[in-house]
Amino acid sequence: IKEVMKDNIELICDIAERIAFADEGEDRGVLLQDVAYSIAEHMAADVCSIYIYDEIEKMLFLRATQGLDISAVGSVKLSLEEGITGQALRELRPICVGQASKESAYKFFPGIKEEHYEAFLAVPIMRGARKIGVLVLQATECDYFKENDVSALRAIATQLATMFESVKLLKEARKGLGIEETPSIACSKDILRGRSASKGVAKGISCVLDTRVDDYDKESHPKLLGADINAFESALQLTIDQIKELQVTTSEQLADVAVLIFSAHLLILEDEQFTGRIRELIIDGVDALYAVNTVVNEYVQIFSNSTVPMIQEKILDVKDLGKRLGRNLSFNEESSSDYSGQIVAVKELLPSDILKFSAENVEGLIICSGVTSHNAIICRSLRIPMVAVSRDLFDSIPDDLPLLMDASQGIIYFDPNDEILNQYKELEKTWNILNDASDIKDIRRTSCGEVVEIMANINLLSDLEPARHFKANGIGLYRSEFPFIVRNDFPSEEEQTHIYSRLVDSMNGLPVTLRTLDIGGDKMLSYYSNVTEANPFLGMRAIRFSLQNRDIFSQQLRAFLRAGVKADARIMFPLIASVDDFLAAREIVFECMDQLEDEGVQVNRQIQLGVMMELPSAVEVAEELAAEADFLSIGSNDLVQYMLAVDRTNEQVSELYKSHHPAILRAINRIVIAAKRADKPVSICGDLATETHMIPFLLGIGLRTLSIDIGSAPAVERAVSLIDIAKAEKFSSKLLKMGKIQEIEALIQDQV
Ligand code: PEP
Ligand code: MG
Repeated sequence: IKEVMKDNIELICDIAERIAFADEGEDRGVLLQDVAYSIAEHMAADVCSIYIYDEIEKMLFLRATQGLDISAVGSVKLSLEEGITGQALRELRPICVGQASKESAYKFFPGIKEEHYEAFLAVPIMRGARKIGVLVLQATECDYFKENDVSALRAIATQLATMFESVKLLKEARKGLGIEETPSIACSKDILRGRSASKGVAKGISCVLDTRVDDYDKESHPKLLGADINAFESALQLTIDQIKELQVTTSEQLADVAVLIFSAHLLILEDEQFTGRIRELIIDGVDALYAVNTVVNEYVQIFSNSTVPMIQEKILDVKDLGKRLGRNLSFNEESSSDYSGQIVAVKELLPSDILKFSAENVEGLIICSGVTSHNAIICRSLRIPMVAVSRDLFDSIPDDLPLLMDASQGIIYFDPNDEILNQYKELEKTWNILNDASDIKDIRRTSCGEVVEIMANINLLSDLEPARHFKANGIGLYRSEFPFIVRNDFPSEEEQTHIYSRLVDSMNGLPVTLRTLDIGGDKMLSYYSNVTEANPFLGMRAIRFSLQNRDIFSQQLRAFLRAGVKADARIMFPLIASVDDFLAAREIVFECMDQLEDEGVQVNRQIQLGVMMELPSAVEVAEELAAEADFLSIGSNDLVQYMLAVDRTNEQVSELYKSHHPAILRAINRIVIAAKRADKPVSICGDLATETHMIPFLLGIGLRTLSIDIGSAPAVERAVSLIDIAKAEKFSSKLLKMGKIQEIEALIQDQV
C-alpha cells in the first residue's frame, strides 16, 4: 500500500460524498457494497468487508464485501468472542495483524474464499459509545498494512458511523440482512429529531406543560369532587409543607442557589388576595377544585398581559401551584417527587425551573425555545438530559406517552419498543465502561509522557463533587453568574463570600479561578434588566456590565478576595476587548484590596489576574494583554461566536458555528504564542477543549491546561492519553496552513 495521506483524504471525501448524496430510500446494502468496493480499491487491499453489529443477537453480521464470496453476505456471523473481527469490537480498538493464520484469535470461514489472505486489519465502527460494526481489510501479502492504513481506516469507520447514527438506520441495515424484525418493532411509532442541549439518555412518560395562557385547561381536573373549604385549607397546608420540604431538599443538593427558588411559590400561597379569592368562590358554593383553577387562570391572564418579563415568568409558578393544589385536593398520594419517571416538555424554561424540575426528579427535558447557554449549562451540571426542538415538532409531542430520549444525539423515540430500549441499555453499559473512573490519577499524561492538566468548569456547587471525584487539577472556570441568575435578587456580599468559600475550601489548595460576572447577552437577570437591547450579545454584557455597575462588581470582588485569602485563588475577566478594559478592571480589584485592608480584613495581594480571550479585538492585542495580565484563558465558545458572527444560541445558524474554522485555529495559536513569549500561563476553558478530535491540535500548538465540564472529563482524559506530542505538533502545523474548512475537516477526520 502506497503512501497515502492525500489518497486517504480523497477516499474519505469520496465516501463522505457517497453517503451524503445517498438517496433517502436507497437500499443501504447497495450503498455499503459501494463503500466496500471504494475502500478496497483506494487502499489496494484484496478484501474489504463491512460487518454490522446486532445488539439483540450480540452478533456481527457480514453486510458487504469486496473480495470474499458475495454469498457470504448475510450468512457469515461472528460473536464478539470470535475472530480478530470480534476482538476489535470487543476491545474497541483497531487490530492490525501481519500473518493472520498464526494468530490464535483468527477465525477462518471455509468456502468464502478467505484462505489466501494473511494480512488482516480490523477497525471498530463506533458512534459515540454505540457499537455499530467492524471494518475489515485483508491482503495476501504478510505485513501488508501499515500504521497510516490504520488511521485511514479509522477515519473511514467514523464516516460510516455517521451513516448509522440512529437506531432506525441500524434497523434498516438489519432488515436488508434478512434478520427478522420482531412484531414489536412495527409498533414503534416515531422519532423526533432535535438538538442536543445536555447529553444523556432519559426514559419516561411525556408531560407536556405550556406557558401560554389559552393552553391552561380549566377542565384539567375533570371530576369535581364537591370539595369544601375544609378540604381546601388542608390541601393548602399540605402544599405549603411540600414546597418547604422541596426547599430543604434542594438546599442540600444546590447550596448556592436553593434559598430562593421556591420562595416565589410560598409568597403566592401566602398572598391573601390569591388564597382569599379562592376561599371567596368556595364560600359562594363553587367546588374547591374549580375555584382553584378559576383563580389560577385569572392570575395567568393578568401575568400574561404584563410587559414586564419578571411578571410574565411567574406564569409557570402559578400554574405549577395550581397543579399541586389540584392534586392535593384530589388526595393524590404523589408528593414532592412530581416528575420522577417523566420527561417534561415545556416551551420556555427559566434556570430556576430547571432547578425545580431537578429537585422534583425529572428524567429529562424537552424545550422549544432556543437553547440559552445557561439553561444548557445548568442542565449539564445537574446531569439532566435536554433536547431542544423546533416549535412545529414541539406541538407534535403527545402528552402521557412513553418516551426514550437520546439527548446526546438529540433524538426522541415515541413509545419505544423493547428492541430500542435494549439497545439503549447496551449503550449505557458501554458508556459505563468508557467512563469507568475506578483508577483515577490526578496526573494525566500523553502517550509520550507529557503532563496535561485537566481542570474543571464549575457552574453550580453541585459540580464540585464530581470534580473532586475525578481529581481535577483545579477549577479553571467558575461561572460566578449562576447564583445571580437563578435567584430573584442580587446575592449579598456575605452570601457570595459563603459560596466562594465553599468553592475554595473544596479544592484543598488547588487553583480556583473565579470568572467575574458574565451577565447580559442571553444571560439576563430577570430582576435587573430594565432595558431591552436590540443586540444583547453586542451590548451591556460581562465586564462591560461590571465596569458600569461598580457596586455590584466591587461586592463580588470583595467577597472573593475574602474567601480566597489563603488559597491559590485567581480572578479572570470575561469579554475583555482591550488592554484598557483589563487595566480598568484590575484597578477596581486593587481598590477593593485597599478597602478591605483598611477595614482590617486580610487579603491575598498575590492573587493572579487574568484575561478571558473571547473577542477578535482581544486576539489582535494578545501580545499587549499577555504582557499586562498574569494569565490568559481562551473562551472559545464566545471567540467562535464573535469571530464568525454566529449567534451561539441561534438554531438556524448552528451549522455555521464551526470551532475548527481556520480563523479560529489561527487566533487560538496566536494567543498561545503571545502568552508563551510573555512567559505567562495560558489555558482553554471553552467547549472546544471537550471536542476530542480537536485535542491533538490544542496540544500540538502548546496548550497544556484544559478546563472542561466535568462530564466530558473521562473522554478528554482518554483522548489526551492517546496523543503523541511530536505527531500532534506536525498535525497542528498542517492545520494552521490550511485555509479551507473542508480541507481541515478532511484532515481531522483522517486522524480520528
Ligand atoms: C467561553 O465563552 O468559551 C466561555 C468559557 O464562557 P461562557 O461559555 O460562559 O460564555
Ligand atoms: Mg464566554
